[in-house]
Amino acid sequence: MTYTTRFAPSPTGYLHLGHAFSALTAFEAASRHDGAFILRLEDIDHTRCRTEYEQAIYDDLLWLGLDWPEPVLRQSEHMADYQAALERLKSMGLVYPCYKTRKELMLEALSAPQDTPPLPTTDTPLDREPAWRLSLPEALDYLGSRWDGLGFEEQGRGGRGEHGWQAADPSINGDVVLARKDVGIAYHLAVVVDDARQGITHIHRGHDLFEAIHTQVLLQALLGLPTPQYHHHALLLDDTGHRLAKRKGSKSIRDLRNEGMSPADIKALIASAAKT
Ligand code: GLU
Repeated sequence: MTYTTRFAPSPTGYLHLGHAFSALTAFEAASRHDGAFILRLEDIDHTRCRTEYEQAIYDDLLWLGLDWPEPVLRQSEHMADYQAALERLKSMGLVYPCYKTRKELMLEALSAPQDTPPLPTTDTPLDREPAWRLSLPEALDYLGSRWDGLGFEEQGRGGRGEHGWQAADPSINGDVVLARKDVGIAYHLAVVVDDARQGITHIHRGHDLFEAIHTQVLLQALLGLPTPQYHHHALLLDDTGHRLAKRKGSKSIRDLRNEGMSPADIKALIASAAKT
C-alpha cells in the first residue's frame, strides 16, 4: 500500500499559516516515504465556499512548491456518494431525523437537569427539513463488543500528548449531524467516504481537528472502511505561547506574499512557530 497523505481544505477563505503547516507536513511526509500527496477540496458547504478561494488555494500551494495529481476531487461533485453512505446508515437504523435547530437544542440542554443526555434521540416532526444525526446508542448496539476496540494509531501529539494506539470515544462528540438540512451532507461523513475512496493511509492535520477522530473512527467501523494512521500536529504558537492565529497567522499566505515574503520565509516562520 502506497503511503498516501492528503490536504483537504475548505475553500471558505484564504489559506493561512496553519493551513500551510498542515499541507507542508503532509507533502513532506509523502515525499519522505516515496508516497503520494493528494489535494482534496472540501466544498460541500455551498453557503460558504467560493470559487475565488478555490483558485487561491491552487495558487498558494503551487507558490509554496507543492504539487499533486489531477484531477483534484471536489466534494461538491460527489454528493451522491455521501448520500449513498447516509442511506446505508439509515437502512442500518443508525441515523435519526432531528427537526430542531442547533439553537433550540442548546436552549433545551441548558434548561435540562444535568443528568439528562445532551441531545434527544427522538424528535417531533416539524414543518421543516430535518438534519440527520448518528444515534450513538444504536451504533453501540450495532457494534456490540467491537465498540470497545474502536481506536486509532496516533503518530503526532495525539489527545493526551501521546503517540501510539489510542482508544476512540465517540461519546465525546455525541450524536453528530451527518447530513445538514441546508447542505444535505456534513463534514464527518464526506471525510470518511473520501479518505477511503482515495486510499489515504496517513492523515496529517492540525490538533484542532483531533476530537473529530472519535466520530470518524466510529463511522469507519460502521461503514466497513479502513482507519488510516493519524498525525495531529501541534498548532502554531507565537513567542508568548498563544495561538499564532491572533497575530501573524491571521494574515493569509497571500498577504504575507504581498508583503514580500518568500516560500522559504513562510517555511522558516512555520518552523519557528512550531517549536515555540
Ligand atoms: N476540511 C477541513 C478543514 O478545512 C479539514 C478536514 C480534515 O483534515 O479532516 O478544516
